[in-house]
Order: sequence, then C-alpha cells, then structure tokens
Amino acid sequence: MQINISNIPEKGLNLRFSKSKEWFHRFLPTGDDSGFCVQKIEVSCFVEKVLKNVSIKGKIKAGIELECCRCLEEFNFPAEIEFKYVLSPADDLKEDELELTYKDLEYNYYEGDVIDLGQIIVEQVVLRVPVKPLCNDSCRGLCPVCGVNLNIEKCDHKTQQISSPFAALKNFKANKER
Ligand SMILES: [Zn+2]
Ligand SMILES: [Zn+2]
Repeated sequence: MQINISNIPEKGLNLRFSKSKEWFHRFLPTGDDSGFCVQKIEVSCFVEKVLKNVSIKGKIKAGIELECCRCLEEFNFPAEIEFKYVLSPADDLKEDELELTYKDLEYNYYEGDVIDLGQIIVEQVVLRVPVKPLCNDSCRGLCPVCGVNLNIEKCDHKTQQISSPFAALKNFKANKER
C-alpha cells in the first residue's frame, strides 16, 4: 500500500479500498498478543500534494474483535476513525526538527518518494483499540468466587463492587492510611 509521490496528480488522488485481516496483522510484531483481532478494514482517503508536502485525509472503518476485560467475552467493536496527516520530505528537515515533528502524530515526514499508506492506517487503528475494552459500560463481569458470567447468570455470592472507580479509590486510600 505505497504511494509514489510523483504519481499524485495535480488535482489530488481519491483512494478507496478495503484490506483483509491477514493484511493488517502482518504489520504487527510476531507473537503480539495484545488481545485484539481486526476484521475487514475499509479506507477512503484523499491524497494531495501541497508544495513539497503531502496531505492525506481520510476515514477508516474497521471491525475490531476484542475481549471484554470484565467478563472475558469476545465482542465486536466497530471503529470509525478520521485521520489527517501532513508529511514533509525528510531531506528538508534538520535532525532535531525531525524528532520534534515525528512526535506529533498529525505531522510526519516521508523519505524518498514513497509514502507507506499501510503503515499510517495500521497506526491509526492500533491507536483506537481501547486499553480496557468493555462489552458494555454496565458489564457485570464474572463472579470472583464461582466465575459465572453475571451478565447471563446469577449466583448467591455477594460480589464487591470492584468495577466502580470510586470503590477502587476508597480501597486505595484505606491502604495508604494503614
Ligand atoms: Zn463484558
Ligand atoms: Zn458466584
């Protein structure tokens, strides 16, 4: 998924394509078990040359399969991501400038005359994966005693409200005072 900059016409380039799960996961380091699986990805974007810079604006639709951090059930998380990048030629930037701009996600650089659009798309999707995925905000999780999924079944164990951030805070304070 590379764009040769000399092939971008004056009026810009509209791109629309979809990518498979296999394509996506090839970008991730092998043995990566971050616990998500990306299904099909759809991308539409507009690539334009602005002087020496290249601007890329677009939208990504991706179905991400995640495991809920409370009940451990798998669920589908549809992500819609809008992104915008401005890439400058690396040759024009001094080294300290390179470092500075590289930190800013929306401002980047390219080397040679090729832009790797795939890398950009994968980066955007990975950033969108929630750190603590929840199948539902009100997911009740698993009973810590018998392990039943409390969204589906009931059990007689009294569960502590470990899911509330306030309860967690209380515990934290209590521990500190001890
Ligand atoms: Zn859940
Ligand atoms: Zn139980």
